[in-house]
Amino acid sequence: MEIVQIVDGMKVRGVTNAFIGGEWYRPRRTYAEHSPVSRMPLVEVANCSPADVPLAVDWATTGLRNWGRLPPFERAKILSNWSEIIRASSEEVARVITLEMGKPLREARAEVQGSAQAVLWAAEEAKRIGGETIPSELPGRRLWTVRQPVGTVLGITPWNFPVSMVTRKAAPALAAGCSFILKPAENTPLSALVLAEMWKEAGGPGGVFQVLPTNDPGPLVDAVLKDRTVRKLTFTGSTETGRMLSEKAGRLLKKVSMELGGHAPFMVFADADLMAAARSLVAAKFSNGGQTCVSVNRVYVHEDVSTDFSDCLLELLRTLKVGDPFKTETDIGPLVNEQAVEKVNRQIEDATDKGARVLHGGTHDGLFFTPTLISGVEGNMKVLREETFGPLLPLTTFRSEREVLEAANGGPYGLAAYLWTSDISRAHRVSDALEFGLVGINDQRVFQPHLPFGGVKDSGFGREGGRWGVDSFLETKLVSLAIQENTELDEGGE
Ligand code: ADP
Repeated sequence: MEIVQIVDGMKVRGVTNAFIGGEWYRPRRTYAEHSPVSRMPLVEVANCSPADVPLAVDWATTGLRNWGRLPPFERAKILSNWSEIIRASSEEVARVITLEMGKPLREARAEVQGSAQAVLWAAEEAKRIGGETIPSELPGRRLWTVRQPVGTVLGITPWNFPVSMVTRKAAPALAAGCSFILKPAENTPLSALVLAEMWKEAGGPGGVFQVLPTNDPGPLVDAVLKDRTVRKLTFTGSTETGRMLSEKAGRLLKKVSMELGGHAPFMVFADADLMAAARSLVAAKFSNGGQTCVSVNRVYVHEDVSTDFSDCLLELLRTLKVGDPFKTETDIGPLVNEQAVEKVNRQIEDATDKGARVLHGGTHDGLFFTPTLISGVEGNMKVLREETFGPLLPLTTFRSEREVLEAANGGPYGLAAYLWTSDISRAHRVSDALEFGLVGINDQRVFQPHLPFGGVKDSGFGREGGRWGVDSFLETKLVSLAIQENTELDEGGE
């Protein structure tokens, strides 16, 4: 296996060039990538521009043709090779993730294992894409559907899960028979390029999976979208960017899937198992330093148990370790950049100015933010309206189901919501009334490769994962065949 780069003393497979047409491609310019761990420049990475787009979209068309000609079982074989290579190299890939965006190595390993699983799941699903037969209302007709790939897909991914965000989009698209052009986040291109090297090694044909890094995404993405051979945009990122790209893609009549911001409520009813709820909350809030779209953003605790619950939380928060993400004991690494730190600081300041109290944390050392708990939070505070994307947990209280549901559904986002209760009827009532794409009841694990994932309202539309994820890269073609419907079977001869 070829080792082509030494980055920050680490061997990294893959190169810092773009990956176009199955080969490493050097565009005219490069840009410097920095690590949030050392805050030092890591490498110079390919900086693709609209000038590089015609080559990539031409290759995507060639890739689509060649990929489409392969029997689905062959495509499944290549995808499962890809999955196996990712799985077998999980330590190496995990280190690249941690280096690029700072999540604890333990979490990066889990991300890579989950990504390998997602690719394998898509590989298996490639064998099961079939159509249906439909009864005819007229005599002498046979009707059926064929499921075909939408065509060339543009994927745009964020930095917070630099490997799994790629595989959860690319793998189902490839399983469906599409070709896939990836524009990774500007601060995590290496993770994507390592995946490209593995795709090559898995026997993936040229032009089917391509990676075009850039630090100026606007013009590049415009050029790809405007190409008439590009049929779908799949995006994960901020609501603001997603809205803007939806408008552009809508005008061009491209199919669109949007996985956008979240502002997850976590509701603790008085009959909940408080310690179990607190453990689940800490897991749902502090993984990836709170930098996930399903991360809890606001906690509503029934007023009868609010003191007991915050005691449980404090006990757990005191055990969390902030520090070097490469160390196994670390729970929270650095936040991704200064703006992320400033945003958490601004929300804490705004809340405390308006009367909230810091019960734990509230400080940072550079990009390393302590897990923070604030209480006495009210509806007029920023933290209850804006996505935090950092390790800040605001506690607020409620008295009734109606009150907490109104608060939970009140904001613009609708990705994940969590509730804790031991009353089965309440669990159903509240879950039914929540305007969210994902609901965890006494559970925060709402994400698995085979489950549908996605939001409603300003959290976007479309579902990734499972058969729903593959469906979103398929079109349904109806075929109608007129035949001679004799009353007698043909006996042969004249
Ligand atoms: P985040 O705040 O998570 O960085 P963004 O929405 O800014 O969220 O970024 C998510 C993805 O969208 C990244 O790959 C980024 O490069 C891309 N992106 C940001 N701005 C644009 C733009 N104007 N056009 C196309 N893609 C963009």
